[in-house]
Amino acid sequence: MIDAGISATAIRKFLKDMDISMQTIMGVLVTHNHIDHVRGLEVLTRKDNLPAFTTFKIWKSILTSQKKITQDCIREIPLQQKFHLAGFDIEAFPVCHDAPETIGFHICAGGKKITIATDLGHICQTAAPYIQAANLLVIESNYDEQMLVNGKYPHFLKARIQSDHGHLGNHQTSAFLADIISDNLSNICLAHLSKNNNTPEIVLQTLQQNFLERGIILNGHPQISILNRNMPSNMIRLIE
Ligand SMILES: [Zn+2]
Ligand SMILES: [Zn+2]
Repeated sequence: MIDAGISATAIRKFLKDMDISMQTIMGVLVTHNHIDHVRGLEVLTRKDNLPAFTTFKIWKSILTSQKKITQDCIREIPLQQKFHLAGFDIEAFPVCHDAPETIGFHICAGGKKITIATDLGHICQTAAPYIQAANLLVIESNYDEQMLVNGKYPHFLKARIQSDHGHLGNHQTSAFLADIISDNLSNICLAHLSKNNNTPEIVLQTLQQNFLERGIILNGHPQISILNRNMPSNMIRLIE
């Protein structure tokens, strides 16, 4: 499992709905300490005995607010060094975001590669190779630039979100994807959409527009999924 941004109760329910047993979850990989990524973590570690994997610096930042997390569930992982868990080779890589440290994950198994990068203000040189190597990419498309600028957020928050250590806007993500698209990229999942400054329709329109400007027609490859904030997405199988 990667992050636990909703309550443990909701996570258990969604897993049950999808016929996924909690016993098959071998741990939680944690990207950073923001509440929309760790809300259910303490209960999952305490009641479900799940170990949680993240860097020393992220652990320190989580434990300042989530004091009830038991020490024996903590697994420290290095940056940019592979480790093995539950049949997956996993590598954490740093991304730019306004938390004490934030990481993405690159996960390999059965010859397929998955990269997950939510919460990044821009795509830095360290993160780019992991993102480009993915067969399945989960990347944020957080806000529509116009909706954010014209919206109700206070100036400091708009500036934070737009900064190099905030979030990726729809045009930023779409332009980057149009640049890196290749036959190896079979699935793009656009994630971490802002509740107030984005809609799935606008994300898709922006992507289509950026692709069209570069002469790329979306014809089912890669398959595009816009991930819902509060509901499980359809199951994606990379290996039959
Ligand atoms: Zn964050
Ligand atoms: Zn977030």
